[in-house]
Amino acid sequence: MSGLQDLYQTVIIEESRERRGDGAFADGTWTGHSHQVNPTCGDEITLGVRLDADDCIESIGWQGDGCSISMASASLLTDLLQGKSRDEALELIGEFRGVMHSRGQREPDVERFGDAVALGGVSRYVMRVKCAMLSWVALEDALRKSEH
Ligand code: ZN
Repeated sequence: MSGLQDLYQTVIIEESRERRGDGAFADGTWTGHSHQVNPTCGDEITLGVRLDADDCIESIGWQGDGCSISMASASLLTDLLQGKSRDEALELIGEFRGVMHSRGQREPDVERFGDAVALGGVSRYVMRVKCAMLSWVALEDALRKSEH
């Protein structure tokens, strides 16, 4: 394990405790929401998104439970994508999916993904990719359903 991998591990553990966006689901008036489950690991999330009049993400809120990778991923996603435009967010979700399905061949761009690059290494563990993808799939679905 390199020093960088240790750092990423620390980010994932901290984010899984931080759970940014967790609990915000209950009090939101969402333009779209989505429920996703990952039966192989037991991860579950209900995520809501609110778009403003300019199609920018005003707020993301979720509730869920699961392994530290799935919860860290939801926290990192909330931090990264809040404030982004709908199109920008969909593009980043597509890029993240590409990295996650690369089996360790691709790394996320740090300029675009910030702290969420810590999840990049998960792509080497095929069984855990769904854990990392869960909240991103939920947001993608919520964005596609969004009306205002
Ligand atoms: Zn999991």
